[in-house]
Amino acid sequence: MPEFSLDLNEEQRDLRDWVHGFASEVVRPAGAEWDEREETPWPIIQEAAKIGLYGFEFLVNAWGDSTGLSMCLANEELFWGDAGIAMAIFGTHLAVASIYGSGTPDQMVEWVPQCFGDADDPKVAAFCTTEPQAGSDVSSMRTRARYDEAKDEWVISGQKAFATNGGIANVHVVTASVDPELGSRGQAGFVVPPGTPGLQATKKLKKLGLRASHTADVFLDDVRVPGSCLLGGKEALDERLARAREGRKASGQAAMRTFELSRPAVGAQALGIARAAYEYALEYAKDREQFGRRIIENQAIAFTLADMKMELDAARLLVWRAAWMGRNNRVFEAGEGSMSKLKAGEVAVANAEKAVQILGGAGFVRDHPVERWYRDAKIYTIFEGTSEIQRLVISRAISGMYIR
Ligand SMILES: Cc1cc2nc3c(=O)[nH]c(=O)nc-3n(C[C@H](O)[C@H](O)[C@H](O)COP(=O)(O)OP(=O)(O)OC[C@H]3O[C@@H](n4cnc5c(N)ncnc54)[C@H](O)[C@@H]3O)c2cc1C
Repeated sequence: MPEFSLDLNEEQRDLRDWVHGFASEVVRPAGAEWDEREETPWPIIQEAAKIGLYGFEFLVNAWGDSTGLSMCLANEELFWGDAGIAMAIFGTHLAVASIYGSGTPDQMVEWVPQCFGDADDPKVAAFCTTEPQAGSDVSSMRTRARYDEAKDEWVISGQKAFATNGGIANVHVVTASVDPELGSRGQAGFVVPPGTPGLQATKKLKKLGLRASHTADVFLDDVRVPGSCLLGGKEALDERLARAREGRKASGQAAMRTFELSRPAVGAQALGIARAAYEYALEYAKDREQFGRRIIENQAIAFTLADMKMELDAARLLVWRAAWMGRNNRVFEAGEGSMSKLKAGEVAVANAEKAVQILGGAGFVRDHPVERWYRDAKIYTIFEGTSEIQRLVISRAISGMYIR
């Protein structure tokens, strides 16, 4: 048993500093421009690919860290730079996590590289689960996948909502119901290969925040994919469905597995915004003078900053704990994954709001980045499970009861 330590090792520190360098030199300076343009920042995605921050190899290295912290460090630093651009770069990871979590080794080798493309021609990927009538309630999904045995093809039809990279992705990973009677246990994930006929998307949706990141609704009209595109394969699916029909414990549902794997990383993204807001407000408060003294010399401001820092560090400890537990196959007995995302998301919103307040009027105008961070932070109490849903997960875990 290794000695307990929260010190980062040399590799982790190098990774953190390397991503921080890219975030401060490339991402942060471009944040305002791409927020205004509301376009995918392809040149920055390409730069990230060129330095090896965007691609399969980076993910393999980060996942290789047996403490689970490397992914958190990379996410916190990149999102510290700018959350909209960072999501345009790391949004692909959700689709990749789904292939990694549910796919076979052959499927990983075939599809993950196609999610990223390469530095000369970078691509992005989308993970499509949410539907107009199935948001928090994933079990009410209406998208259907039917098996055409004669052709060994799956035929997928339905509508997906709010998909990050929807329509601009090279690879779409789509969750669909194969047996509606089984609810969420009758769902499976499918890879929709590039250029597959029948998949269409709306224009990019206009959003409050994360405006550099592409979000769109996706329509699937009798989309035919080869049998080999069913994540995990048909045999595993049939076995899983049989267990569910017999009322035995199933090993989990496709969408939920992806969300569980990605929760600490999403929490770490929120930490990036929370820290950016805290640091900016601290510097401003040490500089801005009113009533003949710097505003930080008032306890009201200084204590607010103390709280911002304390909440940030508390959230980070929850994120690191969940990342470590996930990486080391510890069971989330009290919803620790949900705790990490819930706390970090709420701290991001609170810190960004406090930063706006500390900057006063300057916090409300676009000359300073805190108004953008305030808009960006809000998504962290909504996507990947709203704060209410995280509280449901935690309360069910601690009580063993079906809390509604
Ligand atoms: C920018 C952006 C990017 C996204 N990216 C993706 C993506 O890549 N892929 C994807 O599949 N989805 C994505 N989503 C969708 C996102 O995950 C959903 O919006 C989210 O899960 C909430 O679902 P909903 O919007 O339908 O809200 P609803 O489920 O309708 O919830 C509305 C409100 O009711 C509350 N509520 C619902 N049920 C309960 C309950 N039982 N108890 C208490 N409160 C409850 C919710 O917490 C929320 O406050 C994205 C969304 C956005 C905005």
